[in-house]
Amino acid sequence: MTSNPIDVHRGLDELRAACATVHLPEDPGYEGARHPWQLTVQQWPAAVAQPRTADEVAAVVRAAARAGLRVAPQSTGHNAGPLEGLEDAVLLRTSSLGEVTIDPERRRARVGGGVLWGDVVGKVAPAGLVALHGSSPDVGVAGFSLGGGIGWLARRFGMQCNNLLAAELVLPDGERARVDADSDPELFWALRGGGGNFGVVTALEFALYPVTSVYGGALVWDWRDASRVFARWTQWTSEAPDEVSSSCRILQLPSIEAVPPPLRGRQVAMIDGAVLADDEAAEKILAPLRELGPEIDTFGRMPAADLVRLHGDPEGPTPAAASASMLGSLPAAGVDAFVEAAGAGSGSSLTVAELRQLGGACGRPHPDAGALPMLHGEFAMYACALAAEPEALRIGERDAERLEAAMSPWACGHYLNFAERPVDAALGFGAEAYERLQQIRRRVDPDGRMLANHRVPAAA
Ligand SMILES: Cc1cc2nc3c(=O)[nH]c(=O)nc-3n(C[C@H](O)[C@H](O)[C@H](O)COP(=O)(O)OP(=O)(O)OC[C@H]3O[C@@H](n4cnc5c(N)ncnc54)[C@H](O)[C@@H]3O)c2cc1C
Repeated sequence: MTSNPIDVHRGLDELRAACATVHLPEDPGYEGARHPWQLTVQQWPAAVAQPRTADEVAAVVRAAARAGLRVAPQSTGHNAGPLEGLEDAVLLRTSSLGEVTIDPERRRARVGGGVLWGDVVGKVAPAGLVALHGSSPDVGVAGFSLGGGIGWLARRFGMQCNNLLAAELVLPDGERARVDADSDPELFWALRGGGGNFGVVTALEFALYPVTSVYGGALVWDWRDASRVFARWTQWTSEAPDEVSSSCRILQLPSIEAVPPPLRGRQVAMIDGAVLADDEAAEKILAPLRELGPEIDTFGRMPAADLVRLHGDPEGPTPAAASASMLGSLPAAGVDAFVEAAGAGSGSSLTVAELRQLGGACGRPHPDAGALPMLHGEFAMYACALAAEPEALRIGERDAERLEAAMSPWACGHYLNFAERPVDAALGFGAEAYERLQQIRRRVDPDGRMLANHRVPAAA
């Protein structure tokens, strides 16, 4: 977008008038407001705005347009890595849009555009319900839900994006809209997987499920056992029922208090996940994994509300170098390549080298599907090195890229929520769906006012 300095000036004045919390680069609050959750990413937006209401969001979007600036909505900044330069954009922080209400009878939740999953879990659990959150309580519901959303119940109930029931948006022209399958089926289709390309989400409504407990936990081995653990797990995933969702990881855990003592400072192979079945059935499902004699086995009946912390993800802003890709089925050579790049003796600095089990309801077109009806891979790979110092970060980046390259023979596109570096967004969708998303972008955002992490451009 082009902008002339007088318009920018007027627009920024208007922005200050429109929204109580606005930080321009010269303001003392700017430095504290510009950083995302992913601390290795430097964001230098033209302004940071933190509206408290949907009307304020609309006023910010209109003021930004008059100043010739784009708008980049951000809930937390977990996926700030792929965002293009923000010099000509207002970073619109949604964290003050914090409403959470539930309707236990209709099993649905309504949350504001800045709500974190941890805030939802505590509200829905007393009603005997769960939401389809992911592995981390401080991930934002909006970014997660717009880009897909795979969690510990995903193979049973599908991705969160296809469990959305309605969205309230400020459209790129500054108008407010409530969008659902009746009011605007095309835009609603795009929102279920197409990311933040179509407006600022001020509220989302989605389905909840009646689950009070699961059979969940983790199995842990020394990382020198990674080859046999990954070989058995990948084979087991090909036959596992939809009732189980799991991950298998190589972890090099720092010696810090946040890591529980049996794992602190250790290098391990870990399978964790949840089974939606009674104890007897769950034990039968897990038996082939337990046969490998894990040194730690915490699987057992647990409250569904505890799933949000099962994975032990870091909470609070974190610096990390990461890579990701989606993988098809993994033969023995694929398992070997993974362990050689990230396991014992590899020299890898990766804190986490992870495969998430896909398939089940994530591997079949969802009946209420939007732009992302299913994921075509068998596994979502994600790797990261937690690193604050530039040299450690550089090494982490090298190792993350090395793992991605080693697994490239089995790569089949991207699950965009896991992609923390810029990738061609087309790789996240089927060809037809991508084309349709571009057409919808042209309808709702012909001037390219929205700046999303994974950009779907308007059709020419
Ligand atoms: C520690 C960690 C754990 C994770 N665990 C999982 C997991 O278990 N399963 C999974 O599927 N993914 C997981 N992810 C990936 C996660 O889903 C993505 O990072 C997602 O984008 C996070 O959403 P956010 O809103 O917190 O992030 P943000 O970086 O704030 O948002 C990402 C993008 O979403 C869009 N967006 C966000 N808010 C809005 C809004 N209000 N309106 C319009 N657009 C918006 C924007 O385009 C923005 O650039 C994890 C990531 C991390 C770092």
